[in-house]
Amino acid sequence: MLVVARPCADPPTAPRARANPTPKRAFGRDAPLRGPAPSARPKRNAGAAPPPQRRCHGETSPMRLTRYFLPVLKENPAEAQIVSHRLMLRAGMIKQSSAGIYSWLPLGFKVLGKIEKIVHEEQARAGHIPMLMPTLQPADLWRESGRYDAYGEELLRIRDRHERDMLYGPTNEEMITDIFRSHVESYKALPLTLYHIQWKFRDETRPRFGVMRGREFLMKDGYNFDLTQEDAMHAYNRHMVSYLRTYERMGLKAIPMRADSGPIGGDNTHEFLVLAETGESEVFYDKAIEDLALGAREVDFDDHAQLEAIRDEFTTPYARTDETHDAALFDQIPEDRRVQGRGIEVGQIFYFGTKYSDAMGAEVIDSTGKRVAVHMGSHGIGVSRLVGALIEANHDDKGMIWPESVTPFGAGIVNLRQGDDATDAACEALYAKLSAAGVDPLYDDRNERAGAKFATMDLIGLPWRITVGPRGLKDGLVELTCRRTGETEEMSPDAAAAKIAAIYAAL
Ligand code: ATP
Ligand code: MG
Repeated sequence: MLVVARPCADPPTAPRARANPTPKRAFGRDAPLRGPAPSARPKRNAGAAPPPQRRCHGETSPMRLTRYFLPVLKENPAEAQIVSHRLMLRAGMIKQSSAGIYSWLPLGFKVLGKIEKIVHEEQARAGHIPMLMPTLQPADLWRESGRYDAYGEELLRIRDRHERDMLYGPTNEEMITDIFRSHVESYKALPLTLYHIQWKFRDETRPRFGVMRGREFLMKDGYNFDLTQEDAMHAYNRHMVSYLRTYERMGLKAIPMRADSGPIGGDNTHEFLVLAETGESEVFYDKAIEDLALGAREVDFDDHAQLEAIRDEFTTPYARTDETHDAALFDQIPEDRRVQGRGIEVGQIFYFGTKYSDAMGAEVIDSTGKRVAVHMGSHGIGVSRLVGALIEANHDDKGMIWPESVTPFGAGIVNLRQGDDATDAACEALYAKLSAAGVDPLYDDRNERAGAKFATMDLIGLPWRITVGPRGLKDGLVELTCRRTGETEEMSPDAAAAKIAAIYAAL
């Protein structure tokens, strides 16, 4: 049964009449409202002025639950076999439209946006350049590389009204190589790494586990073009380090494991695996690798030696999936450090040399005037799969537990006595204060029992909750609860807002 948490009628305390129309939205995100909201305007996002940022899917926008769309399910969906799929359905983050294809409802969309933002920031740090290629590609490009036939049933082939063969891109090596060969002539334009975050389609035989193995899914895919193998390996290392940082910022331990190159080809590749019992890959590794972290170390992405050293540090301990596992090598690890488990592949990097540049004629003139094929690699992050992987790694029996860096809302405000003037006013003040600080709060302003409000907050897993009730307010106190530990502290509303703001400011 679908229970839509947003009642059709406004609650008694919310003004119904809208003297002003809803403010115009900037394309794809809420335009920040500046200055005090006029009193006649409904209190939608009053005081909210999120800091400007790169435009991604689902950006910051503080919300009142009565105005939001959070279609929480009461029952456990029977079709979900793993916890992330079950919780994403229950919390109204996604809705399946057909096998392996989902609508991203507002809460899920927000998390997707947070992940994208981290990916963009870390790609920028590594010097990689964002762009956007289409989802539909002409089959002729894939005929040039030989993959139109070789890719098999996973490739969704489409014919347009002019009988032209098209396909829904499962990856973009051909298209980016075509762009490169059309515009780049000289070695002086190198090194070059272009990437995009775009929907992909792979007609998987068994789409399952919700967004973890979809047919349509969001991927960050990047492509490097270099003059020499050595430069291309530097690009490989740049990707390895930027990916390590990307996953660390999401609070995930993703271990680079030596991988098999599969249909993309090439022989130098690592997959990044997040350990989880529900993972589809079997993994074998030396426990020593669990202690490795980039942490706050300064990385100079132009420093070949530094990046190579980091790469060696993270790839020397044994870590492989079942595809590349070597039992004899594994047995050389001291027994107490041998770990065998399961993992979720959240990314992969490849160096494949001149495979596509040879096939498609992507050449540059080098410093001696000779035409040479460029060395390439491709690098992917499973952006939509990461939402599921993050939930697999962060949940308890009550629901999800979001790390601050990717949480859909920064904090929840629970009003225990909706309609009580003092409680309402304290919640409004907190909402305005947190919004102004860029914390992006979700205010549960429904006329619901406390138990129901707590259950919703626990399910959607916001890392911090401020509970405001008339009894505490008499002493000037609210409760601040940490979702992960369950610890609750009493403090003034200002202190609670300041504490949360400081946590997010430090991210
Ligand atoms: P898998 O082995 O899981 O099928 P892959 O190795 O074929 O994945 P890549 O081509 O390496 O996938 O794609 C880059 C990333 O995209 C993967 O590491 C994974 O995180 C994500 N990804 C791949 N296939 C899917 C899918 N069907 N649903 C969701 N994410 C996917
Ligand atoms: Mg892969």
